[in-house]
Amino acid sequence: MIELIKKLSNAHGVSGYEDELREIIRGELEGTADEIKIDSMGNLIATRNGSEFELMLSAHMDEIGFVVKQIDDRGFIRIAPIGGWFSQIALAQRVVLYAKQKIYGVIGCKPPHLMKDEERKKSIEISDMFVDIGARSKEDVFNLGISVGTPVALDREVAMLANNRITGKAFDNRVGVGVAIEAFRRSKSKETIHLVATVQEEVGLKGAKTSAFSIEPNVAIAVDSCVSADFPGSESAHMDIALGKGAVITVVDASGRGLIVSQAVLRWLRETAEKHKIPYQLEVAEGGTTDASAINLTKSGIPAGVVSIPARYIHSPVEVVDLNDVNTAVELITRATENVREYFEVKK
Ligand code: ZN
Repeated sequence: MIELIKKLSNAHGVSGYEDELREIIRGELEGTADEIKIDSMGNLIATRNGSEFELMLSAHMDEIGFVVKQIDDRGFIRIAPIGGWFSQIALAQRVVLYAKQKIYGVIGCKPPHLMKDEERKKSIEISDMFVDIGARSKEDVFNLGISVGTPVALDREVAMLANNRITGKAFDNRVGVGVAIEAFRRSKSKETIHLVATVQEEVGLKGAKTSAFSIEPNVAIAVDSCVSADFPGSESAHMDIALGKGAVITVVDASGRGLIVSQAVLRWLRETAEKHKIPYQLEVAEGGTTDASAINLTKSGIPAGVVSIPARYIHSPVEVVDLNDVNTAVELITRATENVREYFEVKK
């Protein structure tokens, strides 16, 4: 599992530019899936055929990042954000630009030596940042195949921490993708299962919207990461979600504007966890939502739930998850795929 997470997390796939991830995921699922399709949005849909009952597992493969916006005469590159950034996180990061080949760059920052006291206290906007790829001129940048619109991703490799915890970038949602892949492989479900690695979740749940429309599953689970509120300063969130306490089952997200999970879905996921003695945590969140919200509102309404892996420092290059939670999420989703017919009917 750790090897799979490393492979997925270290790869780059800014929303709208998920090609590298799509190929990795395809490679992981070939042999396990009966059919793998790529739809016109770029979603990867892997299907294992079973009964007439169809279950959709959705895990977004995109990550927040940037695109090139402007290149100046000295070869410095201005970028625009894609997805939800806290600007201070972006500063002083190493990035990869996806041109003809991968080009490394850094988001430069004035050293403290050159800063006035006032400047040091101020936060810096992404619009004031730039990427330095080592170019001497605009021509240098063009010659490397970089132009306006070239995607730019954070570059950070996974590392092990103490107590079976790991750190890396894009755990939101490569950890979720890894969990969905592993559950898809392990499941002995008799039903038809579609694993959808969705595109553009971070910019409006777009891939989930179109893929759920074409699949029209009987029920769906979005596999994602959620905010773990167990570090200094997170007390004000008044949430008990913590690393190491198990997979998270969402009850409500975005104060109900995202998803209010139906009683039937909650009963299914909670009873499955309890029956198999899988540790889990319940989440009520006021911000953030997942693919499940888009799936839920597809066609005449599709029952949808969320199983997530708690992560600290989400939307940063140093996200932290506990591998024990990863394993409980795999176990919960696997078991849920196997008993789903006890809870839901095929819609006529
Ligand atoms: Zn996510």
